[in-house]
Amino acid sequence: MEDRHFPPPSDGQPLPEEVIQVLIEVARRSRAFSYAPYSRYRVGSALLAASGNVYSGVNVENASYGLAICSERTAYVKAVSEGERAFVAIAVVTDDGGSPCGACRQFMAEFGLHTVVILANEKGEYQLTTVGALLPSAFTPANLQTKPLRGRKPHRTAEAPSGASLARRRSKQRVE
Ligand SMILES: [Zn+2]
Repeated sequence: MEDRHFPPPSDGQPLPEEVIQVLIEVARRSRAFSYAPYSRYRVGSALLAASGNVYSGVNVENASYGLAICSERTAYVKAVSEGERAFVAIAVVTDDGGSPCGACRQFMAEFGLHTVVILANEKGEYQLTTVGALLPSAFTPANLQTKPLRGRKPHRTAEAPSGASLARRRSKQRVE
């Protein structure tokens, strides 16, 4: 399917109904490409990046069941591999309006908790939520940012020590 393009959305504005409807339609049409011979649970997604580009995704299953990839992650991987890092909204369409699995919630949280999630069924009925609402107390990249260690003096040298020199220093301290 040809990816759609929107003008970049303005920050803090609610998602216009027109955008919601287009995302649902792109996701709905994508379902035709879903590869779900085992579960028969077809999922289509449409991810709107901050650039205005829209990336579709479907679930892709495998005879080795554990290798199945969900529709949401397919859309994110397509977008990130095209250079996108910021996202506005994702529509997910299933028969019953089902919500993303736990793995997808974590995967989406990596790229922002404020991303709107549009959960729609085949009839076009939908509800709005966000990645943050779907994954409370999320573990995000912020958890891994380097913080200064308490009770240690800053290094005198301008450059941070390399991992190897740090390891040497630690082993030296242990010997002493
Ligand atoms: Zn999933």
